[in-house]
Amino acid sequence: MPGQVSESSIGPSDDTPYVPSWCYKNGPKMCPCGHHEGYHNDAGDCLMHHKCKCSGLPADCLTPIGEL
Ligand SMILES: [Zn+2]
Ligand SMILES: [Zn+2]
Repeated sequence: MPGQVSESSIGPSDDTPYVPSWCYKNGPKMCPCGHHEGYHNDAGDCLMHHKCKCSGLPADCLTPIGEL
């Protein structure tokens, strides 16, 4: 698309998860998209869904908040 700034030039924050893996006591669960649950927002949308084509984090891939 002409005139649009490339997303690849944004920097390291582009692939920083919302919740780092070390925040999970037993480790984060993996989404079928290849990113762990920490990359997904409250709605289950992957931070990098435009790259991995994530269709949403399955409910059974989400650690209950009390187990963090
Ligand atoms: Zn995903
Ligand atoms: Zn993903």
